[in-house]
Amino acid sequence: MVQILVLDSVDSASLLSLREENYEVIDLTNDKNSLNDYLETADGIIIRSATKATSDFLKRFNKIKIIARAGVGLDNVDLEYCKSNGIKVVNSPNGPSKSVAELTVAMLISVSRNLRSALIGTVEKKWPKKTSAGTEVSGKILGIIGTGAIGFEVAKLANCLGMKVIGYDIIINQKLKESGWFEYVDKDELLRNSDYVTIHVPLLKSTYHILSDEEFKIMKHGSFVLNMSRGGLIDEDSLIKAIESGKIKGAALDTYEKEPVQNEDILSNPQIFCTPHIGASTTEALQKNTSIIVKEIIDFFTQK
Ligand code: NAD
Repeated sequence: MVQILVLDSVDSASLLSLREENYEVIDLTNDKNSLNDYLETADGIIIRSATKATSDFLKRFNKIKIIARAGVGLDNVDLEYCKSNGIKVVNSPNGPSKSVAELTVAMLISVSRNLRSALIGTVEKKWPKKTSAGTEVSGKILGIIGTGAIGFEVAKLANCLGMKVIGYDIIINQKLKESGWFEYVDKDELLRNSDYVTIHVPLLKSTYHILSDEEFKIMKHGSFVLNMSRGGLIDEDSLIKAIESGKIKGAALDTYEKEPVQNEDILSNPQIFCTPHIGASTTEALQKNTSIIVKEIIDFFTQK
């Protein structure tokens, strides 16, 4: 019997299909201390972002053949180690796209309408009506860095809000180009013209600090920045400097260089709207992510 360990919480109903196919599914999400009991026998593991599948972690297993990541980002998996040790890595592209895109739009409006100060001030009984004035997003320019699955969903939603959308990507996708939801531009043009810049690229060596001093210099005075993708894509020190200088009016962050975020310069800044990495935290995304990777696991062991 193929043994699969579940190390991070996923949609339990979607795991039923694995059990129905006679897989032994062992849920260790609330019992990490028992992991040692399965290091010899596990054939695969199911993770999300919490488990760091580093080479040191993976070396402890005797025979795992597959790592199934319920979600998109694979920056918590040592892909080089997996490749050289014949471990298949699967994930669920598209699973969380709509959820992350919806959060991006929520954050876009939140920073525009000063909702952080409005919410906190109201709860603190300060009735901060005068200090909570904002701007409309309609008629403004949204620049999307990375027009893949999530970036494209954001483009569609932003169009419905009456925004003009421009996008920069290292790959020009002809089908997306013809969709009419956004116009491809180069990175500098995007930075120069956007009222809002949102990042939807993976965290790679080539994308690390894709927004730093140089980029903030080019950006429009008084523009906003959003990062629902990965900490490390924005140079947080540069962002703070750019906000303090008035160049950048505000930011919305769901992901941080270090999580959970402890950086007081970020947390206490009234111009930064923060959420705790919840882009994919919806019932629908969890279901889609889990059912996609369950199918991947079954396909993998069926083809073997
Ligand atoms: P995707 O692969 O569909 O799209 C990524 C796009 O980025 C691709 O079109 C790619 O060509 C482009 N790209 C890569 N390097 C680039 C560069 N240097 N400059 C410009 N474009 C570049 O991925 P996706 O599903 O849209 O997800 C994007 C990222 O969102 C994921 O990698 C993940 O880190 C993040 N994410 C965050 C959450 C969350 O909870 N906040 C949830 C899911 C995904």
